[in-house]
Amino acid sequence: MDAILKQKRAYQQIHADAVKGMLCHAYAVIGGEAETEAFLTLAAQAMLCEQGGCGACRTCRRIKEGNHPDVLHFPRGEKMNVEEAEALLDAVLLSPVEASRKVVLLHHAHKMTPIVQNKLLKVLEEPPKNVHFVLGAANPDALLITVRSRVVSLPIGSFSEAEITRILSAEFPGAGINRAVKLSGGSLDTARFFMSEKGNALAEYCMRALRDCRGAMSFASYSTKGQAFKEYGALLFDTLSILLLYALKGESGFSSVRSSLGERGIVRLLDIAALCRKKLSYHCSFLFALDEFLLALSTAED
Ligand SMILES: [Zn+2]
Repeated sequence: MDAILKQKRAYQQIHADAVKGMLCHAYAVIGGEAETEAFLTLAAQAMLCEQGGCGACRTCRRIKEGNHPDVLHFPRGEKMNVEEAEALLDAVLLSPVEASRKVVLLHHAHKMTPIVQNKLLKVLEEPPKNVHFVLGAANPDALLITVRSRVVSLPIGSFSEAEITRILSAEFPGAGINRAVKLSGGSLDTARFFMSEKGNALAEYCMRALRDCRGAMSFASYSTKGQAFKEYGALLFDTLSILLLYALKGESGFSSVRSSLGERGIVRLLDIAALCRKKLSYHCSFLFALDEFLLALSTAED
């Protein structure tokens, strides 16, 4: 994963800024949970390692192990509270111990409450000399606009199928990863989800529904089974859309979906899946949206 992240523009910008000695006071790295966490380590290495983040020297190794004295990690738990924010404000006033600068890594920054974010506003805008912040955020919208305007935003962006294949092969040696790669939509978190038991169940459910859900009895059965995936809401409709697109493109393994729905049926269901997903974002009930899709599916004609 590190080698792939180092090729991303987000990393190259921090690396170039560090090499030029022109680091900004605060960056916000935007991406899925796992890659953002890995990125924070790489960013701290790029900022403190004398070889620009070699990954092998003592500095880099200690950063990776989480015990470099000039890399501060906040919060200790899942979410920063006000006391911890105050401790942070005190900690950044101390001079670096070994390196020429101090790096503060704010993990899961999107989970900070507005009160905590407001407490950090001033230090993010004007930290003490030689202190640099890197925030990791899975959901940038959860950051106050006043915070966003004070940090340099660095989206990691999506991953190609080849990149996800490389990462999953390393993480799940010997396991079948093709379906997870195809359903990932360029997101590593989603790809990993489809390697889990629950993800596998969701993919199977969507695949079978598209192939077999026809008629009133079948509708009732899939409607009931679908309740198990309520917590995944939008992801279920994304998965249906991706599967329909593969069927439309005539990819191998999807011919049964294509032959039972026909091209026109698939196009119509793609529209309905997009509409149902939109309804969820407007807080429409998941089961209501799912039934709407399944109804269209169970009455689809080729
Ligand atoms: Zn190094």
